[in-house]
Amino acid sequence: MDLLFPRKCPFCATILEGEELLCGSCQSTLPWLMGQARERQVDFAAACLSPLTYTGAVRDSIHRYKFPGNPSYARCYGLLVAQCVEDQWPHPLDQVTWVPVSWRRREKRGFDQGKRLAAETAAALKLPLTDTLVKRRHTPQQSRLTETAQRRANVLGAYAVRPGAQVEGKRLLLIDDVVTSGATLSECARILMQAGAREVVCAALAQARKK
Ligand SMILES: [Zn+2]
Repeated sequence: MDLLFPRKCPFCATILEGEELLCGSCQSTLPWLMGQARERQVDFAAACLSPLTYTGAVRDSIHRYKFPGNPSYARCYGLLVAQCVEDQWPHPLDQVTWVPVSWRRREKRGFDQGKRLAAETAAALKLPLTDTLVKRRHTPQQSRLTETAQRRANVLGAYAVRPGAQVEGKRLLLIDDVVTSGATLSECARILMQAGAREVVCAALAQARKK
């Protein structure tokens, strides 16, 4: 299959050899975050971690992952997120879950990019993947809103804990592709905590840095 569809670096499209997940050049030049810079504050979450800055090749790659859709990127992304969580969060976690997209958006893309990323992260961390959240209404894309207040209002009440989801007493790793204002992750963390979760740790492939 690799001969017909050679694997490409998710960040620069260079053809990859062997088992590598991204090319050597991206490994040295991508905007990697180190130490404390990988963490940011998200309300209701114990931590919010990401290995990369949401800029340049990273932003373009995530865009290609979602539109028109390159589900194969998820493996590399998931391993990078898992590595970052292992480095920055030396505490036990019980389950991995994700920020859902509305069915309308999923339909358009043909795959659930958040779930796919969470599944790869869970596999790398050897943790179970659980479906805990539902999106109750279609919201305008957060990226179209510029103000933090607008983003918060946009997501307020947009998510709910899935009926029957077992989150009580659980330490959850909540995955999204990008953290920008943190409003979506914070709203999801809030309702998971309200449903009895013991702790919510957020992780994303990349975070937008304030200038
Ligand atoms: Zn590359």
